[in-house]
Amino acid sequence: VRVGILGAGQLAQMLTEAGTRLGMSHVLLAPEHDACAASCGVFVHGDYDDPHALSRFSEHADVATFEFENVPTHAVEWLEDRIPVRPSAEVLRIAQDRLREKETFRRLGIPVPRFEAINTLLELQHHAEAVGLPAVLKTRTLGYDGKGQAIVRDTRAESLQRAWRAIGGTPAILEELVPFDRELSVIGTQSPDGEQVFYSLNENVHREGILRLTMARATDPQREIAEEYARRLLVEFGYVGTLALELFEVEGGLLANEMAPRVHNSGHWTIEGAETSQFENHMRAVCGLPLGGTLQHRAAAMVNLIGTLPAVHDVLAIPDAHLHVYGKAERPGRKVGHITLIDHANNSVEFNTRVARALELAGEDAAAYALTLRESQRGA
Ligand code: AMP
Repeated sequence: VRVGILGAGQLAQMLTEAGTRLGMSHVLLAPEHDACAASCGVFVHGDYDDPHALSRFSEHADVATFEFENVPTHAVEWLEDRIPVRPSAEVLRIAQDRLREKETFRRLGIPVPRFEAINTLLELQHHAEAVGLPAVLKTRTLGYDGKGQAIVRDTRAESLQRAWRAIGGTPAILEELVPFDRELSVIGTQSPDGEQVFYSLNENVHREGILRLTMARATDPQREIAEEYARRLLVEFGYVGTLALELFEVEGGLLANEMAPRVHNSGHWTIEGAETSQFENHMRAVCGLPLGGTLQHRAAAMVNLIGTLPAVHDVLAIPDAHLHVYGKAERPGRKVGHITLIDHANNSVEFNTRVARALELAGEDAAAYALTLRESQRGA
């Protein structure tokens, strides 16, 4: 089977690694000259909505998927008229728009933080009290890794104006800033005939809007309800592929932040830590193959490498550390690799020391992660 992937970053790289093992071949389309997955298959260089590029891409593919959620939906719709695209343009359109996304969550009974749609500065002034401060103003579209966001702390005219200007005065949502205890994500895969699998819940720590650390929590008390929310989304959209749902844990309950209609950074540990990775299950689903088991055997953690890479030797000197280098140029704020740690010795104290060491190599202050490292759970 020839699988087309829109986007050619590290997610595409890890998707093609899984696909190649299953005998699939790949075609990738991306606008960057130096896309890190360009050599992972036939590479079509061009904008996502360039008709020539799309047409070449579709000629090389039996089925298509995407690794990047800001692909223009009209390009995906154009493809859908020619080959199956999984997941669909419909779910992509909703995931690209924070307002439609939150409305969908609400309709499906998935709790969300209080929010209001904001189209003008006047509406911002009008709704700030009702949403409650502090709040975060987020552009409806094209936001990721904390971009396109401004915090609103008080209702003074100049504060509201500043926030409105900071996001470029475009349609937005104003959302209460929730005092979360933890950030969690749940990842699941659904096949075309409705088979579903879910991975251990992920506990995630962000800094400056970018994911830094994921701890896989096989026996987390929130796992069941998180899975139930993800299941509703998979069913609602007749979803095909891997989906991630990001959640806040607040006072023992869960509020949905956003979904990603693709494989997700918080699921990178599944390559070494689960029976079948999120990437392989995505490719299986996209090609209509039976899904693989998701069992987590040992405690697992993932540390992102942002901006610069540590010395390879230092990473590999950590027992049970697995290094993934994406082959991207180093640049501040850019995800250039990750480290996965698996607790093969089944010793949570030692394991936490190793995760802390990986965080240090990633340039993080490991002490700031003490709460998350307090106890590593074992695999199932
Ligand atoms: P997002 O782009 O919506 O995923 O936001 C990036 C990060 O900002 C999240 O992972 C949170 O750490 C933080 N954040 C976003 N929205 C909220 C909120 N309503 N309350 C508290 N923190 C938030």
